Amino acid sequence: MQEKASLFLVPTPIGNLEDITLRAIRILKSVDVILAEDTRTSGKLLKHLEIATKQQSYHIFNEHQNLQKLVERLKAGEKMALISDAGTPAISDPGFLLVRACLAEEIAVECLPGPTALIPALVQSGLPADRFVFEGFLPHKKGRLTRLQQLAEEKRTIVLYESPHRLVKALQQFAEHCGESRRASVSRELTKLYEETVNGTLNELIEYFSKSKVKGEIVIVIEGKA
Ligand code: SAM
Repeated sequence: MQEKASLFLVPTPIGNLEDITLRAIRILKSVDVILAEDTRTSGKLLKHLEIATKQQSYHIFNEHQNLQKLVERLKAGEKMALISDAGTPAISDPGFLLVRACLAEEIAVECLPGPTALIPALVQSGLPADRFVFEGFLPHKKGRLTRLQQLAEEKRTIVLYESPHRLVKALQQFAEHCGESRRASVSRELTKLYEETVNGTLNELIEYFSKSKVKGEIVIVIEGKA
């Protein structure tokens, strides 16, 4: 099949290597270069999928610097795929700047549908999924309080990413601002061996996750204000 785009954003598994589409594999095999957030991490996936396409590193520390050169190469006819370490590029990962730069130069961009952590966490939270806001990571220090105050008034379901060592603190802060009986859900290690999703009130979740050291990758889902 002849693909029109020059730049493809290709979602990759968030844990389970089976979670990659046939089309993603075909695109990764057919492009001239794969822009990867971490070429060593992606190298393992590409090896597993028997994809021999060359990689070039593209991450938050070099994306500004590389942008113009990449745009020129795309304009000259190169086909590229952007992947991140896991999930969908540009979702709490590099990608937005390159997409914006391509669109400004009328370079065709296509994002393939595929794995991302926020959607399974939202759907299996049992909280309304018809309308939701995705907050990515909350600021660690400056601006965190303002964001928590704003989110306490949010009526739609709230989805956010958090590191395991900050999980309990984040739940406590939400309990403080939203009330401890607000319903929520924590999904940990989605698609992986120790995957778990715990649903309950913020208070119940604080109690559950305070019992032992929390490990792994985390998505928090919080019910909107009634
Ligand atoms: N681009 C990715 C996506 O589409 O979901 C997100 C990348 S962001 C740098 C990494 C964060 O995503 C983790 O800290 C965690 O909050 C969430 N995440 C990624 N994989 C996950 C998984 N398997 N289970 C739970 N959360 C996950």
